[in-house]
Amino acid sequence: MAECDVDPEVLRYLGYAGQELNPELERRITEAVELCEEVSRPAKTWRGFDPAMLHFPGKSIAEHLAGGVEVVLMAVTLGHGVDRELRRLSMVDPLGQVMFDAAATAAVERLANKTEAQIRAEARERGLYCSWRFSPGYGDLPLEVQPDLLGRLDAARRLGITLTPSNLMVPTKSVTAIVGLHPTPQPGLAQTCDVCELRPHCALRSRGVTCRA
Ligand code: SF4
Repeated sequence: MAECDVDPEVLRYLGYAGQELNPELERRITEAVELCEEVSRPAKTWRGFDPAMLHFPGKSIAEHLAGGVEVVLMAVTLGHGVDRELRRLSMVDPLGQVMFDAAATAAVERLANKTEAQIRAEARERGLYCSWRFSPGYGDLPLEVQPDLLGRLDAARRLGITLTPSNLMVPTKSVTAIVGLHPTPQPGLAQTCDVCELRPHCALRSRGVTCRA
């Protein structure tokens, strides 16, 4: 593929896998990314809980949090402006909507990564280690936990996140997740910072420590 300035994550969400990108398409994707930055109002919150206070259904999350001393709930969103733009584009520019949607999905994942990296750095300050973030819908953790999770974070008031009757979040470009805090390093984490998606946001590395030790 020729040299290209477009965020590879945006290309991945568009289904690109190394194909040549023509200059016109590259220009349009770049514009979609810029528009997304313009209309986004990124916001985040997280809070730690005693594991005894939380009761999540399913085996996956129980295994994920086993042995933990604290559970952090987190929520992030790009805000309602992104949804408004998605609706507008769907009526006037369907291809533009697809590009904008990919840009927004990449942006909210980046925001979630950045937030997780902050949680991880704070945990290490306290001598604790994080598990990777686990979202409703992963494994057998149902979306039905969303009302409780968002309620505990006061996310409607703080971030403007509400739920549809089927527990989908509005704004749509929002992420919730559960992170376990443990006294020992957790398996399943990146074995080297070189392959870690949190690397661009990681405050630990700059201090010469890692989340593993
Ligand atoms: S693996 Fe490295 S970059 Fe990733 S969170 Fe841990 S210390 Fe940070």
